[in-house]
Amino acid sequence: MEKNHIFILVICRQQAYNYIGYFYRLFAGRRERMKVLVINCGSSSLKYQLIDAETEQALAVGLCERIGIDGRLNHTPADGEKVVINKDMPDHEVAIRMVLDALVNDTYGVIKELKEIDAVGHRLVHGGEKFSSSVIIDDEVIAAVEECNPLAPLHNPANLIGVRACEAIMPGVPNIGVFDTAFHQTMGPVAYMYGLPHEYYEKYKVRRYGFHGTSHSFVSKRAIEMLKLDPDNSKVIVCHLGNGSSISAVKNGKVVDTSMGMTPMEGLVMGTRCGDMDPTIVEYLAHNLGKSLEDIMVILNKESGVYGLSGGVSSDFRDLDAASNEGNEKAKLAVEVFSYRTAKYIGSYIAAMNGVDAIIFTAGLGENNAVVRGQILEHFGYMGITLDQEANKVRGEEKIISTPDSKVTVAVIPTNEELAIARETVALLG
Ligand code: ADP
Repeated sequence: MEKNHIFILVICRQQAYNYIGYFYRLFAGRRERMKVLVINCGSSSLKYQLIDAETEQALAVGLCERIGIDGRLNHTPADGEKVVINKDMPDHEVAIRMVLDALVNDTYGVIKELKEIDAVGHRLVHGGEKFSSSVIIDDEVIAAVEECNPLAPLHNPANLIGVRACEAIMPGVPNIGVFDTAFHQTMGPVAYMYGLPHEYYEKYKVRRYGFHGTSHSFVSKRAIEMLKLDPDNSKVIVCHLGNGSSISAVKNGKVVDTSMGMTPMEGLVMGTRCGDMDPTIVEYLAHNLGKSLEDIMVILNKESGVYGLSGGVSSDFRDLDAASNEGNEKAKLAVEVFSYRTAKYIGSYIAAMNGVDAIIFTAGLGENNAVVRGQILEHFGYMGITLDQEANKVRGEEKIISTPDSKVTVAVIPTNEELAIARETVALLG
């Protein structure tokens, strides 16, 4: 068969899927009654929610964690008990199959069959300059996202495994992609340009893009609402601290700067990523280790960060805290380096916005780790920021953790990227 015939067949298959999905939704009811499965494949975790678009409530929420390490599925139906399933999850595809099995399980499932899922909203990390808004995913979109894989080698391939698994298991159900890079598009050139020859931006679009945009958007909006700030006169710093971590400076609801760059490697020290460092180290290590550039990039992406700093103890802060408590000095240092770098970024964003009204902690680590929050905020005593030690014990819920007389309000606000993605999904299909 000639190449262009194959191409037409592929397009037709995709169109057919879209039409099946459209008519299914038409017969199933209006878009307000849609059930949207949101999948957020992180580098070591996969969060999911099945969301009822009418009530915006999650029918079930869950988390596959420690993917590639060992594997644990936490599944909680809205009106039931949390179920924990310990089972090997060597990769994201295995994780997604476990999620779908849990959703239709006779005992703790929330739907009878997979066809009750009207659409799947996927977090997609890097859209380069090709995507400035959310899209309905088809083969062409997949190919375009694949072209961006070199820019986010830990994330885009994991995201696409999620898309392909859903296409294979739920043919006809539309998949929507919501990009991490979109919210940061308000950054001006003063923040997004590197100190490189200008032509590299013009020819190759080498610039800072920023990531975790869906989370920074959701949390900064919620901070303005929760703390009753003036949306047109507010300065908020959002610290999204997880396995991958980033900070944003959001002035009057718009990003003026964020710590990740052309790829999610820049900025903070992360689970396995090095964050900011002298670029000369790449050449120096390649030379001394006799390794290729590609090998060095693998080291910087997968063997560095707190994992590398701790001498390989773990990329998970729970393991690092446990090791520190047992006297492991490298694990202790890894956590301290993380906190110190984060504090330096907060300081620089206070300068970038010429002030700050609120500092918000979010994501797995930001929401749950009191030690790290405490270490970071120690650096801001000079500004009159004071932490309420009791309130700082909070885990995973919205709470102000600064004292009432603190000059700047500090709060924990759980991120809800899933709800933000479900809203985009419904809006695109409506
Ligand atoms: P990802 O970037 O993979 O989405 P997460 O946002 O899930 O990562 O963050 C992972 C980090 O958050 C880990 O280092 C882990 O220690 C920490 N974390 C997540 N959940 C909890 C929890 N319930 N208690 C303590 N720490 C947690």
